[in-house]
Amino acid sequence: LATGALAVSLTACGGEGAGGGAGGGDGEEGGLVGVAMPTQTYERWIADGNAVKSGLEEAGYEVDLQFAGDDIPTQQQQIDAMINKGAEALIVASIDGTALGSQLEAAAAADIPVISYDRLIRDSENVDFYVTFDNYQVGVQQGTSLLTGLGILDENGEEAADAPEGPFNIELFAGSPDDNNAGFFFDGAMSVLQPYIDDKTLVVPSGQTDFGTVAIQRWEQEGAQERMENLLTSTYTGNDETIDGVLAPADVLSRGILTALQNAGYGEGDLEIPVVTGQDAEAASAKLIQDDVQYSTIFKDTRLLAEQAVIAATSFLEGNEPEANDTETYDNGVKVVPSYLLPTVIVTKDNLEAELIDSGYLTEDEVASGQ
Ligand code: BGC
Repeated sequence: LATGALAVSLTACGGEGAGGGAGGGDGEEGGLVGVAMPTQTYERWIADGNAVKSGLEEAGYEVDLQFAGDDIPTQQQQIDAMINKGAEALIVASIDGTALGSQLEAAAAADIPVISYDRLIRDSENVDFYVTFDNYQVGVQQGTSLLTGLGILDENGEEAADAPEGPFNIELFAGSPDDNNAGFFFDGAMSVLQPYIDDKTLVVPSGQTDFGTVAIQRWEQEGAQERMENLLTSTYTGNDETIDGVLAPADVLSRGILTALQNAGYGEGDLEIPVVTGQDAEAASAKLIQDDVQYSTIFKDTRLLAEQAVIAATSFLEGNEPEANDTETYDNGVKVVPSYLLPTVIVTKDNLEAELIDSGYLTEDEVASGQ
C-alpha cells in the first residue's frame, strides 16, 4: 500500500519539523510517539501502522510502532513500555476497548495525550481524541450492498424496478464484541436490513439475529468459517434451503465464510455463491471480487486515517487541540470523545479499478495476485 500521499498533505499543513515544539527540549528533533496496533493478521493494520509511522517521521518525530498479536496483556505491556521510554503522545488501536485503564491513567499522570485510533477506547476519561471512519455508515453500506447484490436495490441504492420477489435466505455475522466498532457496523447494517426482514423479503433461516449470537470473537477468520460450517449443518442440511446472502463485517471473515460455503459445494453447478459483503478492501478480497467470488467490500482509505492521526498528534504536541468534525457520536461510557470521522466507499466489481487501483491504494498486481 502506498503511503506517499502523507508527506504532501503534511507539508501543506505545516507539519514539517513541527515536533520541535514538543517539549522534548532537544532542539530540532521531535519527541517520541508510541503507536500501538492490534495485530498483523489483517492487512489493514500493517498498512495503518506503516502509514502512521512514516507520517510521524516525516513530521520530525521518532516512532515506537508495536503490534500486539491480538493479545491484550501484550498490548498493555507495549503501552507501558512506550510510557516508560518517554513517549510524548500515544496513538492506540485497542484490542479490547475496555482493557487499557491503568495504561491510560499512567499516560494522563504524565500529561501524555492519547489518540484513539479507528477503535474507540472505552470507560476512560483519559482519551483525548478519536480518529476513525464513520462506522455506522460502514454498516449501512454493508447492508445496502447486500441488498444491491440480491437485486432488491439498484446501483443507486433505490428499490429496483425489476426486483425479484424473494424471499431470500440470508445469514448475519458481526465483529468482535470487545471492539466498539463491531456494534456500530452491525447496527448500521441492520438499520437497512431489518425492514426487509420484517416484510419477509429477507429470511434468516437459522433464527440467529442478535449481535451477541452472531459476533465473532477477536475477528478471527477461523471463527467465522466455523460458524458458517455450523450454520450449514444445522440449518441447510437435509432440506431444500440454500443461502442467498451473507452479511460479513470484514474481508478476513468474508474469506472464512466463503471457504466454508465453497467446501459445501457453493459455486459448483447450479448452486451459486451467495452475495457476501466485506470491509477493508484487502488485496485478497479485491481479487475475490474481481473473480466474482466475494460481492463487495467497504473501502476505508487507511492513508487518510493515518494522516488524521498524525495531524492530531502534531497539534497536541504543539500545544493545540486537534479539530474535530464530530462531537456527539462517540460516548465512551465516561465522556463523549471529540472525533474526526472519515467517509467510506462501497466497492464492487464495477468500481474496483477506479476506487482501489486508480487511487493508488492497491496495485494491479496486488489485486491480480491477491497479496
Ligand atoms: C476495523 C475494521 C477491521 C476490524 C478487524 C475494526 O475495528 O474498523 O476495519 O476489519 O476491526 O480488524
